[in-house]
Amino acid sequence: MFKSPIKQKLKQTKATEWVNNIISRGINSGASDIHIDPYRNEFIVRFRVDGILHKIDSQLIDFFPRVISCLKIMANLDITEHRIPQDGHILFSSGGTLESIDLRVSVFPLVINEAVVIRILGGKNIFFTDFEKLGVHADDAEKLKDVLQRSSGMILSTGPGGTGKTTTLYTILHNLRSQQKNIVTLEDPVEYYVEGLRQSQVRPEIGFDFVDGLKSILRQNPDVIMIGEIRDDKTAEASIRASLLGSLFLSTMHTSNSVGTIVRLLEFDLPPSFIASSLSLIIAQRLVRVICPYCIAEDKPSAKVLELSKVPKDKQTRFFKGMGCGHCEGSGYSGRKGIFEFMFINKNIQQLVISGAPFTDIEEAAKLNGMHTLREEAIRQAGVGATTLEEVIRVTPND
Ligand SMILES: [Zn+2]
Repeated sequence: MFKSPIKQKLKQTKATEWVNNIISRGINSGASDIHIDPYRNEFIVRFRVDGILHKIDSQLIDFFPRVISCLKIMANLDITEHRIPQDGHILFSSGGTLESIDLRVSVFPLVINEAVVIRILGGKNIFFTDFEKLGVHADDAEKLKDVLQRSSGMILSTGPGGTGKTTTLYTILHNLRSQQKNIVTLEDPVEYYVEGLRQSQVRPEIGFDFVDGLKSILRQNPDVIMIGEIRDDKTAEASIRASLLGSLFLSTMHTSNSVGTIVRLLEFDLPPSFIASSLSLIIAQRLVRVICPYCIAEDKPSAKVLELSKVPKDKQTRFFKGMGCGHCEGSGYSGRKGIFEFMFINKNIQQLVISGAPFTDIEEAAKLNGMHTLREEAIRQAGVGATTLEEVIRVTPND
């Protein structure tokens, strides 16, 4: 049957409008990611808000090809390619505002159709300049200030993806920012633009990667260097060298906790003394959902919850939860906050790393040096009504 070109154009305009509307809604609701998943008869849209996916729309599958073409065009991807994964960027500006928001688009081929995830970079993510507001224990915030005064050494922010590692590093950079310092970053990609920093982005496709970039940065006479992530032995080695050469060095690693980070670094087959002498601080972190302030009430946790969360007997005092209200759409939670495990590396810990001591000994030494584990910190936050014991169990390692 003959299809009118005008009709086709109208349908495509409708798809463009729909896509723009979904992205705007995602940004406005503070989502970190937008998921678009095709099924047999329909496709659904979910927003990840405060770490949890929520379904927000569904449409008939007939509309999907136009939606995906529209997204591919916006992200500069090949619209004829359906068999291999594709990644692109959209610089999105919503109606009337001058500020544009960076979106990372990932298209992944399924057996039938393709799934799309749009990551919203920066967006409405809250950006703190005060460590205690981030959720850092007051003692740790004090000691951190001392570490930031130093002119060398390595600070690693660690945890799984989406636990706020980048926000922590930016908070540190914010605090370090001054006319007297040359601060250079190499990121993948740049997630926030900050005045006063020299920010750059790796481009592996043209051979500009973390290792090569780092070599060039060292010729830029830096005081502070931030590298997006240490994920292989070459980057680890180059990073440690940089931190020993008179720059304060910041980066992230995908490890579960602070001791696990030392284990991972040793697995890179670098000399233990080399690692021990460079490390100043390892910050492991997670994000817990915060109880909604409009419906918070005292909670009597069950014996099972108390057991699973491993709350020490002397800390089993008062706990809280959100009853669910209009402000939190019945979830009982509103927003998230950080849970931090700060391992300050002292002489004792350095010696244990060099001598190949068991990791349990390193953890004990860190605790003696004032380290609160992720679980202990989460229980402390539950005790003051910031979060629930269910979140403690869901989010922190069971140590
Ligand atoms: Zn509520």
